[in-house]
Amino acid sequence: MSTPRDQEILITGASGFVATHIVKSFLEHGYRVRGTVRSEQSAANVRDIFSQYSDRLSFAIVKDIAQPGAFEEAVKGIDGIIHTASPFQFVVEDQEKDLLQPAIRGTLEILRAAQARSRITRVVITSSFAAMANLHQGLWPEHTYTEADWNPETYENARAADGVSAYCASKAFAEKAAWDFMEKEKPHFSLATICPPMIYGPVEQCVQDMSKLNTSAADIYQLMNGSMTEVPVMGFPAWADVRDVADAHLRAFQINEAMNERFFITSGNYNYQQVCEILRANFPQIKDKVPHSQIGQIQPAVYKVSNQKAQAVLGMRFRSLESSIKDTAESLLKLEKKVEK
Ligand code: NDP
Repeated sequence: MSTPRDQEILITGASGFVATHIVKSFLEHGYRVRGTVRSEQSAANVRDIFSQYSDRLSFAIVKDIAQPGAFEEAVKGIDGIIHTASPFQFVVEDQEKDLLQPAIRGTLEILRAAQARSRITRVVITSSFAAMANLHQGLWPEHTYTEADWNPETYENARAADGVSAYCASKAFAEKAAWDFMEKEKPHFSLATICPPMIYGPVEQCVQDMSKLNTSAADIYQLMNGSMTEVPVMGFPAWADVRDVADAHLRAFQINEAMNERFFITSGNYNYQQVCEILRANFPQIKDKVPHSQIGQIQPAVYKVSNQKAQAVLGMRFRSLESSIKDTAESLLKLEKKVEK
């Protein structure tokens, strides 16, 4: 039987917030990891983070996941794939060119590359709650989201939509394209998709400038750096910790029952008011920068979220909001000091 050390796993977008934790998780569990990054500099940055694993970590440069044949070289000799690379930004110039097309094409490119390599047994794709959420229903208090839900946005609407809606649609179209590929092509490997909502937790990737934080870390940082005078309105009231998300990818790769399944990975609901209270209680040094709610402001009722399948099939247990936000804030304060130097 092959052990983790016998297997080399390709992790795409290895320089990203989520991928850094996935790389860590696979290395800690003994696998060899090949990360795809866009440049040699990016490879050097990731190599620095994981210097103690230099004998089991290598890189392939993939400048643009959407180019035909993008992963042809990167998949050579690989046993499994975790595909995380996808644009996650809400402000772009062109929704189709910058969000929809790279997400969809990148997903199809990785699956086509896997199809040509008989050693590959499973592909795990980082999808998102964005691929599940029906934005037209708003906070939909009477609904409980599960793996059965799909974002119903049309491609035509998404092309002309705001950045948030177009990003959500990009994830839905990419994940749908993956399941369609599996149905039509019936490849030799199995697929699992991981759908987390807002992901918080320690920022461990290389960040040169606080204005270039990944989107979900920036979501917490805006509540810490004095840029918000009031608690903002909640967009997506469900969350997961990045370490749980990384663990879910590992389990979805290892567990037989995860074969050809979709998983909603979430700790549960939350709101920014709770985040602000956790920040004030644990970090007195920034308490004057953390925004307050307007007097008498009531939290609206919101949809519920179910992580039952992730618990039952993957054996997942989830972190608390308090511990996740504390660790997020600690890492951001440390990072702030480092980049100021
Ligand atoms: P990051 O922006 O930190 O990471 C995105 C990664 O994808 C980066 O490595 C980036 O490379 C790479 N990438 C993006 N576009 C391209 C492209 N065209 N060609 C090559 N590489 C590309 O975001 P996250 O870590 O937060 O997101 C990772 C995944 O998790 C995404 O699929 C996202 O949709 C999903 N997700 C994230 C959530 C969150 O709250 N963070 C929630 C749910 C899902 P580079 O660094 O060089 O730009």
